[in-house]
Amino acid sequence: MKNISAHSFEIGAIRPPSEGASSSLLIRVTRNCPWNQCKFCYGRPYNHEKFELRTVEEIKKDIQAAEAISEEIKRVSWQLGYAGQINHMVGTAILQGDPDLRESHSFLTVFNWLSSGGSTVFLQDADSLIMKTPDLIEVITCLKETFPSLERITSYARAKTIYRKTVEELKSLRKAGLSRLHVGLESGDDEVLKHVNKGVTAEQHIIAGKKAKETGFEYSAYVMPGLGGRSRSEQHAKNTARVLNEINPDYIRSRPLIPGVGTPLFDEYEGGDFQLSSPHERLRELKTMIEALTVTSHFCFDHMMNGWRNESGSFLFTQDYEGYKLPEEKGKILELIEEGLRVKESKHIDAKDLVAMAL
Ligand code: SF4
Repeated sequence: MKNISAHSFEIGAIRPPSEGASSSLLIRVTRNCPWNQCKFCYGRPYNHEKFELRTVEEIKKDIQAAEAISEEIKRVSWQLGYAGQINHMVGTAILQGDPDLRESHSFLTVFNWLSSGGSTVFLQDADSLIMKTPDLIEVITCLKETFPSLERITSYARAKTIYRKTVEELKSLRKAGLSRLHVGLESGDDEVLKHVNKGVTAEQHIIAGKKAKETGFEYSAYVMPGLGGRSRSEQHAKNTARVLNEINPDYIRSRPLIPGVGTPLFDEYEGGDFQLSSPHERLRELKTMIEALTVTSHFCFDHMMNGWRNESGSFLFTQDYEGYKLPEEKGKILELIEEGLRVKESKHIDAKDLVAMAL
């Protein structure tokens, strides 16, 4: 299988869990985070490494490498009589021919992507829209021409970057084929946003979100229960609901705060300047936010960090990527919150314990 091992392409550190579920092909268009200053993160997912733009030529070479791997996998499928279908038998045959491919992220990514239908791509890293718009359009066009089976192309984007793009730029990106933006909203409260150095105001969040929605993007907004700590919990909940109501994202995804060791917010917590809220306090905060929502979004708890338990000891909320549809299932979420509040605090996964374990 030399034809496969001769090709590789660069893959970044992370992608949203929902993109993992669809086994999206990962194409790295920039390296790391251009902001790196959010107090709870500090670019940790990218090992604090320096941000770098990649050239369009470099990215196109990666797309060509992914295409070459894809063509070889399909060739083996035809050779084995599976008519281009990518299944377990094809994978086994390829790995028997070249066991080293087990360690090849490029091969594994393309194989999983093809076997899941080959229809979605995620552009890495933290803020692809920071690329010059014509360059990003060239990359997206190249992807669509190379892989006509693509139905969805998605990316992380900072709200501030979307805010700075013109409506015409966003329209042209959408027209080129970029379809969904994953945006770290975290909070809609200006004091909380300022405290954690998010680099964006609530108003800018609203303008960015509305612009993206009006130009046809699917908007996936990540919110962070607990980010206001104990002292700003209520304003965090109410103002986050207010901003979400203005944007009406397609998806709202809950990512409760767990300050990473080595981040400035962790240091504030250790020094006693920031009080982490307890599991019950976070549920009450969530209740305040959910009650105030008037959106038609899917509300999702699609990550293990949503560690609340129900009375049977299982996860309180489904971790499904489509979550709960609002407003239809608002009552259901509120009922589950009440159930979670009946469960002893010690039975829930507590951010404080996770922080202590990481030390
Ligand atoms: S923008 Fe995102 S990746 Fe960058 S520091 Fe903030 S939370 Fe981390």
